[in-house]
Amino acid sequence: MIANKLQKLYGELPKEVTLVAVSKTKPIADLQDAYDAGQRVFGENKVQEMCTKWEQLPKEINWHFIGHLQRNKVKYLAPFVDLIHGVESFRLLKEINKQAQKNNRVIDVLLQFFIANEETKFGLSFEEAEAILSDENFKELQNVRICGVMGMASFSNNQEQIREEFKTLKSTFDKLKSTFFDNEKSFNVISMGMSGDYNIALEEGSTMIRVGSSIFGKRN
Ligand SMILES: *Cc1c(COP(=O)(O)O)cnc(C)c1O
Repeated sequence: MIANKLQKLYGELPKEVTLVAVSKTKPIADLQDAYDAGQRVFGENKVQEMCTKWEQLPKEINWHFIGHLQRNKVKYLAPFVDLIHGVESFRLLKEINKQAQKNNRVIDVLLQFFIANEETKFGLSFEEAEAILSDENFKELQNVRICGVMGMASFSNNQEQIREEFKTLKSTFDKLKSTFFDNEKSFNVISMGMSGDYNIALEEGSTMIRVGSSIFGKRN
């Protein structure tokens, strides 16, 4: 089942798009099935759960943290996380830098933007991101690398609204790229699109989709 879903997605997706298999709440056996089908990038949104799965599964897996990250938990992820999608404050960025330094590595992150029409979703405004990137102290953070942007569209049936929100994220990416990351090849990720809206996201320039229920089935 999981293998079939993945094969179908691999067939549909453009080569340059990264598929993050969102395995939150799912048992190890499901992740192992996905791994056996060739999947190497997994997304989790709880620190403890991600650490447990990391310990039990093959070390070739790339672990992406896609949830709301509390500063006091960064230390648990720092030894192994490959990409943190949801950075939305300078304080969190500083903590990630500090923990990355302790582990002698550079941690890749995405800035999360608020694009939805819902108060429950997290994220920066363009101005807030500008303030972080222009801050004198930002240059001192040698152990974090900002690789792009992430956003979640509204939970809605209105396809045009979702499309507009993704367009907003794409243009945010373009503006940041030309203003702050012009010469940096590594600033190249636009993480947008989930099971219900990844087709629209791909049409609007997504380079990374985060798909859970379409691979692993509904969550409780
Ligand atoms: C759960 C989650 C997803 C995947 O959602 P599906 O609708 O199951 O594909 C993607 N992104 C984030 C940030 C999530 O929390």
